[in-house]
Amino acid sequence: MSGTLRKGWCPSALHPMASGDGLIVRLSLDDGIVTPALAHRLAHLARQYGNGLLDLSSRANVQLRGVTETTLSALQAELRALGLLETDEAPAAARNILISPLAGIDPQAVVDICPSVHALRERLQHDDTLHQLPDKFSFIVDDGGALSVAWEKADISFLARVSTGSAYFLVSLAGQPVGRCAADELAGAALRILRAFLQLRRDTDQRMADLVRHVSVEAIAERAALTRTPNEIGDLPLPQPIGAFRVGAYHVLGLGIPFGRLDAAALEHLADVAETGRGTLRLTPWRAILITAAEAPDAAKLADSGLIFTEGDPLRAVAACPGAPGCASGSTPTHDDARRLAPFARQLKEQGIALHVSGCAKGCAHPSAAPVTFVGRDGRYDLVRDGAAGDTAIATGFEGDQLTLVLQQLVAKADA
Ligand code: SF4
Repeated sequence: MSGTLRKGWCPSALHPMASGDGLIVRLSLDDGIVTPALAHRLAHLARQYGNGLLDLSSRANVQLRGVTETTLSALQAELRALGLLETDEAPAAARNILISPLAGIDPQAVVDICPSVHALRERLQHDDTLHQLPDKFSFIVDDGGALSVAWEKADISFLARVSTGSAYFLVSLAGQPVGRCAADELAGAALRILRAFLQLRRDTDQRMADLVRHVSVEAIAERAALTRTPNEIGDLPLPQPIGAFRVGAYHVLGLGIPFGRLDAAALEHLADVAETGRGTLRLTPWRAILITAAEAPDAAKLADSGLIFTEGDPLRAVAACPGAPGCASGSTPTHDDARRLAPFARQLKEQGIALHVSGCAKGCAHPSAAPVTFVGRDGRYDLVRDGAAGDTAIATGFEGDQLTLVLQQLVAKADA
């Protein structure tokens, strides 16, 4: 078999992760852009070498599911030919750059971040001193445009802002604003921060949040020679990617992917509609795919694809991981339970995730807190209120219709 299997780790194409339905092969697509031709190819690979199912991850990556040890080598050869197989030398951090999904085409953006992102990726790939970064080390680069990724978590975030006519990036470390850099200096500033991180950290598993706790953001900023600035993040709107809207010269159709899971046929339909409109697909971290096209995409052609067409759809209020049997750590059918509970969830919270149905305490689908989280354990669920899946449960042992009753009671209490 090509590559090494690592259990419980960020899967990649070279290092897939074992799960309940086979191997998970994660593909990082630079800038999250998928041409119709590539989408067709991925759908074919999902069927040919996996179980035909694909996941859209919360870092806007695509995962092929159900790959077997027998099919892995042939899949990797196909991915290599497509330029989608990473090398062992390239650090995982170079694949963990989450960017605004409309980057490069959004007239509302403060700056076109694409050149800065490409420069950062180059540095990460080719600077040997950075290869010691932890595999899960991650970046956000937000262009300040229509769909902001600034809410997402990362070790280092660069948020484009403008002041007296000049664009710059506000820099945050593990979510804490710490300084700024000029719009054309992102890669250089990132390099200085990364070197400061590597010099100051105490062990190789340490992430930025750990270092911030131990030595303070100020110490890291000083070591990285960052220009200090007051906290200017301000209020950020929650992204609303679903529906039809215009972005400059482009027609955009945002489609929700229930629980981030789609099958090969749905991906092919998306590719066909994008192709007809002379467009591409763009991946987002919000369980949604955007079609950006020269002509208005025909949503009616996707009517039978199992996708979500409005932000008000009950499924948009619920996060659920694969659970059982797709994940070996799960013991409950999370997707089925989440679909049944979805109609009640939005009453708990107006926007964003109101209910999280997690297969276990790891909470893969929604690492943050939710008003209600059901956490699978030994075939039943524990209940966490206003917390994440790993937080302390306030009640235990729910299953079947009990879940609906509990949720209805919580909704009634919230309304009272
Ligand atoms: S949270 Fe879900 S997907 Fe993650 S390990 Fe647990 S059961 Fe598996």
